[in-house]
Amino acid sequence: MNQNSLPVAVTGAAGFVGSHLCEALLAQGHRVMAMDNLSTGDIGHLDGLLGHKAFTFQRRDVCLEPPRELVEARQIFNLACPASPAYYQSAPVDTVLCSVLGLWRLLELSQRTGARLLQTSTSEVYGDAERHPQREDYWGNVNPNGARSCYDEGKRCGEAMMMAYHQERQVDVRIARIFNTYGPRLRPGDGRVVSNFIVQALQGQDLTVYGDGQQTRSFCYVSDTVRALMLLMEADERGPVNVGNPGEHTMLDLAEQILRLTGSRSRLVFRPLPQDDPRRRCPDIERARERLGWEPTVSLEEGLERTIHHFRDLLGQQRVIVA
Ligand code: NAD
Ligand code: UDP
Repeated sequence: MNQNSLPVAVTGAAGFVGSHLCEALLAQGHRVMAMDNLSTGDIGHLDGLLGHKAFTFQRRDVCLEPPRELVEARQIFNLACPASPAYYQSAPVDTVLCSVLGLWRLLELSQRTGARLLQTSTSEVYGDAERHPQREDYWGNVNPNGARSCYDEGKRCGEAMMMAYHQERQVDVRIARIFNTYGPRLRPGDGRVVSNFIVQALQGQDLTVYGDGQQTRSFCYVSDTVRALMLLMEADERGPVNVGNPGEHTMLDLAEQILRLTGSRSRLVFRPLPQDDPRRRCPDIERARERLGWEPTVSLEEGLERTIHHFRDLLGQQRVIVA
């Protein structure tokens, strides 16, 4: 049987990364079964796909028993989980349950059906890292009960569950540790730094820099991230594999680039640094290079230009207050 005739499932499909992943899977000829509870996602992100004959969508929470049709899936990409600190900190119980109970349901299903399950873990498993750049064998420095713990520890527990089900019950697992990803379809009110700065710059509002702006992040354009997830799913490699762009930028640098690219005359204002905000983050991507043949191809400038273009179209006359 043609493997592509068996569907691939995507949870969190109406989210930022999930919607791009669904498009890329369909473009490769897969049948896609998409699920999302629409808590932080937007069904509008799937507008272009809803009529596609190889695409189905169900509004569904991963914490509930999976829909019966999911037994057909030969691969499951689990992206269900709020990713913006503003969202996950406003719903910490849902966040931890999604990462633990939701993933447990998918692991149980995969054990029964033999589906390969890919979990989108995160660079947050490294916490406020004390080693730079972060390699997959670094165990991290995470506060177990702080403002970010529902997300960080939820994802760490997710990795532990994936490996436990693999070792004891032979479930076919894949773990991607995604670093900050950006691009079109970030929501204007999402709260993450790229969307905040672009929306503020385009609307002539002050750019809100948290702390002194010297903290760093590495920004990967969404098409590069999606390509890595698809390669990992097909590879003979369980992971964890870092998926990120090794360019490291301070938030001041990011703000200045966005002001330049938008031509905005907005100013910077400094706001308190949120609790447990990691000081530096940068992936070592040797494992992804060697084992997946992957590295990012979209530069920060090019990716920001595309993202700014998206927000210019989206905002139009609409005024959005962020942060
Ligand atoms: P997002 O918030 O845009 O998308 C998450 C999607 O999951 C949303 O559509 C939301 O409605 C859905 N969802 C949340 N809880 C659910 C539940 N209980 N049941 C079903 N659906 C649920 O976030 P994103 O940036 O697209 O992130 C996607 C995945 O990638 C997440 O698992 C996130 O942890 C991981 N990740 C993303 C980044 C990044 O920078 N974007 C970095 C590291 C990891
Ligand atoms: N940040 C900022 N201004 C904002 C939003 C975020 O300076 O309006 C900072 C935030 O404190 C962090 C970095 O930008 O140091 C990245 O934040 P984001 O929420 O995008 O992702 P994180 O990596 O913290 O999960």
